Amino acid sequence: MSRYLAIAVFLLLCPPVSAQNAPPPPVPLTIEAIAPDTYVVRGEGGNTTVIVSDEGVLLVDVKFERNFNDLVAKIKSVTDKPVKYVINSHSHGDHTGGNQKFQDASAVIIAHKNARAAMITGKQPGPPQITYTDQFGLQLGGREVIARYFGRAHTDGDTWVSLPAQRILITGDSFNTADGRGLNPTNSVTYAFFVAPGGSFQEVTQTLDAVLKEDFDIAIPGHGPVAKKADVLRWRNEIEKLRTRVTSMVREGKSTAEVHKMLVAEFGWDPTLDPVRRIQPLLDQVRR
Ligand SMILES: [Zn+2]
Repeated sequence: MSRYLAIAVFLLLCPPVSAQNAPPPPVPLTIEAIAPDTYVVRGEGGNTTVIVSDEGVLLVDVKFERNFNDLVAKIKSVTDKPVKYVINSHSHGDHTGGNQKFQDASAVIIAHKNARAAMITGKQPGPPQITYTDQFGLQLGGREVIARYFGRAHTDGDTWVSLPAQRILITGDSFNTADGRGLNPTNSVTYAFFVAPGGSFQEVTQTLDAVLKEDFDIAIPGHGPVAKKADVLRWRNEIEKLRTRVTSMVREGKSTAEVHKMLVAEFGWDPTLDPVRRIQPLLDQVRR
């Protein structure tokens, strides 16, 4: 009998193999008020901006699919209105992973036409129902939301969302204050600068110049803490400095590893980042 008891105790104490091999649970999210009826949800995936009105809620970006329940709980902690619209700042899964679940809950997803095309090519769930080319405006319960495409930057389908009355600009990953893990240990201006496929190292500063002509005070980045317009200008200027430095190294025939070393030493970049994914595309574009 005691043998059976021992087995029972063993089974109780040891979680099933599937639980042992399961990935770590999602990072809990936090919600922060930025302006009246305007919030940012952070913790995992890209930042989600929550725009609340009497007629419903508009979200900019919806994190990974696995963050859906927590994200909905955070929205419900500030409003009982339903999510009517989701704008995807760009196609990447850490900003669009919740699309399908919000669509299933009757929300309409909107993105730039190139972002939708990238999602279709990537066979990502919940591609947007509505696309635009240059800009669109949306009125929701007295709140004005304007979405614009300013040219290539992080991708070729980056949407910049402004809330003119609140003087807020929501940037997507063309302006970040932390990386995808929420980290910026060196407090570097460009630590989380990332030109993804479709994006442009050459055109990004020109795109940022057009963005900086906009009237706003607060910048909600794709990842990391909320910042100010002056931080976007610093980001733009550091990227130009970085491009000048990388271009001269490429002309001198330096290797990817040497450029990586320079970025760590002079720009505070992550020494452990994947050079093929993060640095090689910059070199390739400079060589063109
Ligand atoms: Zn991205």
